[in-house]
Amino acid sequence: MGKQEKSKGQQLWDELKYEAKNGWEVIAEDEKQQVFDFCEGYKTFLDRAKTEREGVSETIRLAREKGFAALDELMRTKKKLSAGDKVYVVNREKGIMLAVIGKKGLTEGVHIVGAHMDVPRIDLKQNPIYEDGGVVLLKTHYYGGIKKYQWTALPLALHGVVVKNDGQKVDIAIGEDDNDPVFCVTDLLPHLARDQMQKKMTEGITGEGLNILFGSMPYQDDQVKEKFKLNILNLLHQKYGIGEEDFISAELEIVPALKARDVGLDRSMVGGYGHDDRVCCYTALQAILAAEQPEKTAVCLLVDKEEVGSMGNTGMQSRFFEDVLAEMCQLTTDVPYNHLMLSKVLGRSKCLSADVSAAFDPSYPEVHDKRNAPFMNKGIVITKYTGARGKAGASDAHAEFVGEIRTLFNDSKIPWQIGALGKVDQGGGGTIAQFVANLNIDVVDCGVALFSMHAPFEIAGKLDIYMAYKAYHAFYKA
Ligand code: MN
Ligand code: MN
Repeated sequence: MGKQEKSKGQQLWDELKYEAKNGWEVIAEDEKQQVFDFCEGYKTFLDRAKTEREGVSETIRLAREKGFAALDELMRTKKKLSAGDKVYVVNREKGIMLAVIGKKGLTEGVHIVGAHMDVPRIDLKQNPIYEDGGVVLLKTHYYGGIKKYQWTALPLALHGVVVKNDGQKVDIAIGEDDNDPVFCVTDLLPHLARDQMQKKMTEGITGEGLNILFGSMPYQDDQVKEKFKLNILNLLHQKYGIGEEDFISAELEIVPALKARDVGLDRSMVGGYGHDDRVCCYTALQAILAAEQPEKTAVCLLVDKEEVGSMGNTGMQSRFFEDVLAEMCQLTTDVPYNHLMLSKVLGRSKCLSADVSAAFDPSYPEVHDKRNAPFMNKGIVITKYTGARGKAGASDAHAEFVGEIRTLFNDSKIPWQIGALGKVDQGGGGTIAQFVANLNIDVVDCGVALFSMHAPFEIAGKLDIYMAYKAYHAFYKA
């Protein structure tokens, strides 16, 4: 008995209909191990990069291992940049731009993959330490879009920098080592939560209520009024040489004290803090580290402040990117630099705005349009437009550019899918794409779909993570 022959209608159907397939069913058998191997490196990156500053220093470390040098460091030994040179420029320890100089001149345009290093978290206020009820607590102001109730009764770590009065900078990271203490935001016991449980979820835990439990032992001295606070100040002074005023010039971030873990009995997913957007940072970074001798100059741009609107001199709205590009432009040509050259570079450049999307979650089907939602492990997600309420605030990629990227992924045999963030009028969001587009660059959002985005423990599919890397790599090669 042979196979039943396909009817004419079935043949036509197969030819004309579109449906993204699950990537595991499409990729070659020997590629499956590469998917798993790649994600081991990613988990290490997540554990080492809990803040934007740590993300940048880890990026520098990995880049230098692959022969990248700081731009000013390299320019001490040569006058001009040439094809194949691998350089990076750091922006105030919170952002970084890496480039591999292409065979073609910069004025032919560059290929940019842009992602963001900042992650929603809880920042300490500038005057954080107080005591009450025999314990010491820290006042905070959360950063980015968090669901506050998710941050209670969870082990938390403290990371950041303190700049002392003499200008010396102290790095702090407490809560990552298994022997470290951790911190916590307390929550009410259910027995006494009758009023709390009647509140809306947005009000059950308030912003001012996100106080960090930091200590509970007094300094033994009856003359001192705030003995519990003094004990903590004394410990901080002994360990870090800092006093209370030093917190004024500090950036201290409270993040989950969790390590990245495999999720699922089949280990097909990665759970961790900060997939948004370190999953795109890491995959874009690995892609540029593997970009040998590209035709067009390859640029990996990892920025800060996306979660609060991309403003400031470390966000995508900063002039940093244009200024570095202008410098590279000058360093790659013998023609005296003029502003029109930068305009040409920008106008001919292309960008993948590498950011995450929301995977269809079967536990919350009501917020997704299933026909346009991305799915776990169906590959890298192309998002044509973002925004909310009638595409307001959207960067809407041109059909021509979406077509180009679609063709590139198809030709490179990379599983990909189209994906919109939720149902119309359900909510929405933005990325750095709109600010890249304002620079006269063709740009489309393109990243990894997540479960539990912005939660202390987000989930990404391993196949999607690896395909993001392959997609950015293919873009650099194109
Ligand atoms: Mn993001
Ligand atoms: Mn985000």
